[in-house]
Amino acid sequence: MLLPSPPSGSLFMVVAPSGAGKSTLVNALLAQDGAIRLSVSYTTRGPRPGEQNGREYHFVTVDDFLARREAGEFLESAEVHGNYYGTSRIWINEQMRAGTDVLLEIDWQGAQQVRKQFPHAVGMFILPPSIAALEERLTKRGQDDHQVITRRLLAAGGEIAHAPDFEYVIINQEFSVALSQLTSIVIATRCRFPQQAARNSSLFAQLGIHANLN
Ligand code: 5GP
Repeated sequence: MLLPSPPSGSLFMVVAPSGAGKSTLVNALLAQDGAIRLSVSYTTRGPRPGEQNGREYHFVTVDDFLARREAGEFLESAEVHGNYYGTSRIWINEQMRAGTDVLLEIDWQGAQQVRKQFPHAVGMFILPPSIAALEERLTKRGQDDHQVITRRLLAAGGEIAHAPDFEYVIINQEFSVALSQLTSIVIATRCRFPQQAARNSSLFAQLGIHANLN
């Protein structure tokens, strides 16, 4: 009988230009779905007001980051807006082995690296409804100085150019609509045959469902 051996969590990647409202959407998803965990990245960026070490990010020095990268601790890493960011390989592997669904909030470069190692990762790209809306959100956030905002706006075009690499695109015009679209993608992914077979192996065996899940 060819049923999936280890439980298999799904890996979701959410990518967007700064100011598209990605973190607000992701936080709302996490608040309503207790079964999905957010990966806490490492970064060399300084904490913004209200951010806590170990909650939004593991805030580390450049030396610490580079040593970890050299030691192979990151599943993926990239330089974004002049700072380094990376995802813990050990943590992700632990969650995948435990069958936990994980969400990565990363940039397009990181998504490309993850895709090579997890070809079934689900990629979602969040678009703003317009460039003007993007600029307004970045300015209103008030957490970054003018120079940082300008750099991020310039980078937005580069990030958006990678939207075609993603399976799903969500346009964050109406927050509730965008959130329900994000939620629907998560639910649909959980209903894929391999995920259902892994989570319900005894039912599948009882029903005599055999599948080759390569
Ligand atoms: P921010 O500094 O605004 O929190 O994040 C800046 C950018 O870095 C965002 O596009 C965010 O998704 C990305 N980012 C955050 N964590 C990671 C990570 O672990 N890896 C990569 N590649 N990008 C990340």
